[in-house]
Amino acid sequence: MDFAEGYDPLELASRVERLVAVEEGGVVKRWYWRFRGGRWYGGIATGDLVGCCLRCGFCWAWRYAWSTRGRYLLSPEEAGSRLVSIARSRRYRQVRLSGGEPTIAPNHFLEVARYCLSRGLHFVLETNGVLLGARYDLARRVAELRGVGGGIEVRVSIKGCSPREFRVLTGAREDAWLLQLEALRNLLKLGLEPCEEVYPAIMLSFCDRESEESVVERLRDIDEALARCIDPEYVFLYPHVIELMRRRGLRPRTAYRPSEIPDNLI
Ligand code: SF4
Repeated sequence: MDFAEGYDPLELASRVERLVAVEEGGVVKRWYWRFRGGRWYGGIATGDLVGCCLRCGFCWAWRYAWSTRGRYLLSPEEAGSRLVSIARSRRYRQVRLSGGEPTIAPNHFLEVARYCLSRGLHFVLETNGVLLGARYDLARRVAELRGVGGGIEVRVSIKGCSPREFRVLTGAREDAWLLQLEALRNLLKLGLEPCEEVYPAIMLSFCDRESEESVVERLRDIDEALARCIDPEYVFLYPHVIELMRRRGLRPRTAYRPSEIPDNLI
């Protein structure tokens, strides 16, 4: 990983895809490290994937997101059925893929989404947006899920408030930050409703007032509504996150102990 020069997350995504996804008989399987229910989004079934195209220095899932093997290698149907089963047993209406980046090996996550949507569940796509910003064809395939079953919601998690902060936080080249904004632009262009079907989340822990204001301004330039539905993200100080930040020399301005996470961040 070239942190000194700034790695290319698109190139990393291609390399990771070859390691975390396996095609067998036309079906794309992907490695997972766990399935769980949880209180986020008011109750949601979650499949945690292995594999990401960024290396954020505050990542809570880094031990798994950056590895190439999980516990289970599953087809979309197998992963979808686990999510549906958790959701039904706990009376959740929503499912998501998390942990790693779902848009790597897109044929897998799109099929998982269709499986869950067609059973009446709402699908939350949590993404860093890099691939959706770079590939309009992929954004189009996500947008095509709109009319299916329980409906989709795309949460584009923007890493830092500027290209420079992105570079410091992720170690990736600065210009890839713009791809995250481009993901929002692409999905809006394809007809997703701002705030209801697509919205930005921003890692604000390392931003100063000026950089925070500038990213809000950039979001307004894409669509006025986006600035009104920013989902703030902050670092949660789990021991393995503190250790990672120490190694990467990152010091958050705002962060929360796991026992003190405010209700509005859950
Ligand atoms: S994009 Fe998410 S999963 Fe990937 S490194 Fe960053 S925080 Fe971790």
